[in-house]
Parts: sequence; structure tokens; C-alpha cells
Amino acid sequence: MEKNFILFGPPGAGKGTQAKMISKRFEVLHLSTGDMIREAKDDPVFAPYLTSGQLVPDQIIVDMVEKRLQREDCKSGFLLDGFPRTLFQAEELDKFLKKMNRKITEVFCIEVPEEDIIKRLSGRRVCPACGGSFNLVLKPSKKEGVCDFCGAKLVQRKDDNPDTIKERLDVYKKQTEILIEYYTKAGNIVRVDGTLSPEQVFEKIENFVNNNIK
Ligand code: AMP
Repeated sequence: MEKNFILFGPPGAGKGTQAKMISKRFEVLHLSTGDMIREAKDDPVFAPYLTSGQLVPDQIIVDMVEKRLQREDCKSGFLLDGFPRTLFQAEELDKFLKKMNRKITEVFCIEVPEEDIIKRLSGRRVCPACGGSFNLVLKPSKKEGVCDFCGAKLVQRKDDNPDTIKERLDVYKKQTEILIEYYTKAGNIVRVDGTLSPEQVFEKIENFVNNNIK
């Protein structure tokens, strides 16, 4: 059976880590709109949004995602990470999938209190070479400032500074929580406690999907 997932959670909830585990275990393509936009950081359309923490206009993002979902590598399933972020995006996604005779099968929502998020994000350090992710307090690299996997110098993401974090959390709260209501009504939301270890969070997700298939 085709698996089309959505992964929700505030910035820093561990979405990236879970997304990697889910896409590997269930063989679905991981599509992160944040990563897609960071890859296009030199494009003048996207650059201002990355530094301000504001959302990219709906229609631009919807067109980008729809185009991507039509590619061959999404045919057997996908995991959306960071999309939809607004009601408009969710409704457009549903319309688009319906046309293609597909649907969202599960919506995972990772929940983490705000104080924990701020702690996590201000300490996050990422590897620009291989994508490895560390945290000064929660998951330090073996050698300070150096990637464990490839030895490159770790950096702080431009949007992980305290002002931008606050702005991103406000944007998340204002615009995204309504989506939880939307998918709760649709009946396919699964709430997961994101304060658990990454392995425990994944186990809950995996068990849910396995039980849902049966
Ligand atoms: P993220 O890594 O998911 O926090 O995304 C980084 C930035 O990309 C966000 O702060 C937004 O500016 C933009 N972005 C990512 N996904 C979306 C989306 N679904 N709608 C609008 N903007 C987005």
C-alpha cells in the first residue's frame, strides 16, 4: 500500500532526524521544503525569507511541491517535512492529490514545549559538507566545532539565531496549529511526544504505521 506521510512539529522538534529514519524504513522519498529552499538560497525569490524567518508566499511553495511530487521518485510514497504550513497549502495539497488519485495516509505531529525548542535550536550546529547535525548541549560532536562524519567545520544555521528562532516559533504557532485541527478533523493525525529520545519517537511512529497497515 502506498504511504504518503506528513511530518509536523515546531522548528527543532527533531523532524529532520525522524524524516531520515521514516524514509529509510518505509522507502518513501523525504521532501523537506526548508531544505529545498536552502538549496536555492542564492535565488533572489527565496533569499529574503531564509534570513527573516517569514514564510515564503503560499503559491510559490505549492507550485514547487506539486512539481516535485509529480516526479517518478515520489510515485511509491513520500514524506513531507515542513509542508503544508498554512491552511491554503493543505487544501491545495488535498486537491492536487485527489486529482492524482492519491491521498495522505498519516500525519505525524511531534510535540515539544517551547523552552526545550529554544534550548535545542540555539545550540544546534550543522555540517555544511555532509548535512550532519549536532547540538552543543544535547548531542555534541566528538571534537568541538568539527563534524564527526566528515571532519568539516560545523556552522550555525543562519536562521538559528535567537531573534529568528522566536520569529519562527511565532510563525509556527500562528499559522500552523490550525493545520492540526484540519488533519484532526480528517482523522489521520498521530501525536507523538517529541521529548522522548529519537529512537523512542521513531518506535512510536513505526508501530503506528505497522498497526495501521494491518
Ligand atoms: P524549515 O527548515 O522547515 O524551518 O524552513 C526554513 C524556511 O524555509 C522557513 O522559515 C520559510 O521561510 C521557508 N519554508 C519552508 N517550508 C515552507 C512552507 N511550507 N511554506 C512557506 N515557507 C516555507
